[in-house]
Amino acid sequence: MTGINVFEEAQKQIRIACEKLEVDRGYYEILKQPERVMEVSFPVRMDDGRVEVFTGYRSQHDDTLGPAKGGIRFHPLVTADEVKALSMWMTIKCALVGVPFGGGKGGVNCNPKKLSYGELERIARGYIRSIAPIVGSEKDIPAPDVYTNEKVMAWMVDEFSKLKGYTDYGVVTGKPLILGGSAARDEATAMGCFITTKEALKKFNLSVNKATVCIQGFGNAGFNLAKILFDSGAKIIGVSDSRGGLFNPEGINPKELLEVKNSKGSVVYGSGKVITNEELLELNCDVLIPAALENQITEKNVHNIKAKIVSEAANGPTTTAASKILYKKGILVVPDILASAGGVTVSYFEWVQNKTGYYWDYDEVTQKLEKMMVNAFKDIFDMHQKNQVDIREAAFLIAIKRIVEGLKYKLS
Ligand code: GLU
Repeated sequence: MTGINVFEEAQKQIRIACEKLEVDRGYYEILKQPERVMEVSFPVRMDDGRVEVFTGYRSQHDDTLGPAKGGIRFHPLVTADEVKALSMWMTIKCALVGVPFGGGKGGVNCNPKKLSYGELERIARGYIRSIAPIVGSEKDIPAPDVYTNEKVMAWMVDEFSKLKGYTDYGVVTGKPLILGGSAARDEATAMGCFITTKEALKKFNLSVNKATVCIQGFGNAGFNLAKILFDSGAKIIGVSDSRGGLFNPEGINPKELLEVKNSKGSVVYGSGKVITNEELLELNCDVLIPAALENQITEKNVHNIKAKIVSEAANGPTTTAASKILYKKGILVVPDILASAGGVTVSYFEWVQNKTGYYWDYDEVTQKLEKMMVNAFKDIFDMHQKNQVDIREAAFLIAIKRIVEGLKYKLS
């Protein structure tokens, strides 16, 4: 643990943007905390017969631009403050890429690595039952996040639909294709990061097939990104998961490494030198991609970062202070609220498809995603150059400006 409070970090970022935009102080007062946070405790029968009580949260930050939207994570470090911060970043993310949602986020404090399949299912069903009063396809739409996936979403949509008495596919996104999911949703976060990273590489006159890349995290975002980058000719020289990292200057084949991870439990058993997660961040490479958890690049290690580009596939991997230092060092950051926005963008497409009952093919989804991500990158880069602010700040300025514009209509 870094001791850095992500909720305070999110507040600081919003405050700075409100001040720079010189908006009435009242707008910061509205946006500095979630509109609604629900804490739930629910009992789950474990495989050994015991009853265990789990704590979960659902935070809805702001619904000015549409119903709340954001993932649900299952992780032992989940806290109310973390979920609140993540819901604030979702509001910003949605406003930035232009999907008509507000921000939400949920989490259950549990350790999925120690849970059986049946226990996981009972937790998923128990949690969605507990938060059912505040979610719904017009209210708040959850999705996958850290250690949750399409299977978990399928249990949740099933449980919620049973409660309501009708099938409500639009209540969660990231579902399996056969249960109202969207083409390309599973790899969407990775694709969004890939598209924006390509735009960033152009600023250095570099192309993907010449780039060296390090990726922290080998989950949905990390692994899919590694695969897409590898298939595009990039050289992946470092990867990691929660147990440690692997460095191989000759290049790593992520598909082979996934087989190793699946059979032995971690990427560290692949071929290469075993390193720590901290060492991975400091490797010499063109692109560094934090694709795991918050607070990985801090004032402590930022001076050792050697990458030209940091593309944040995770939410909140760089602290505000460290971000400023990256900017001064001339490192181009593709900020989390942009680089990780591919997931929620295709979630939006999924929700639209559920509402209309008309489903699009893979190419249609990915073309629409590419267009939205490239446009958002361009908007941010223009703002960054025109206003001489770092690129994360530029992203916040664009998003807050849009939200405040909406709020103004509602409040005046
Ligand atoms: N959990 C993802 C995120 O942090 C996706 C959210 C969504 O699709 O609603 O952006």
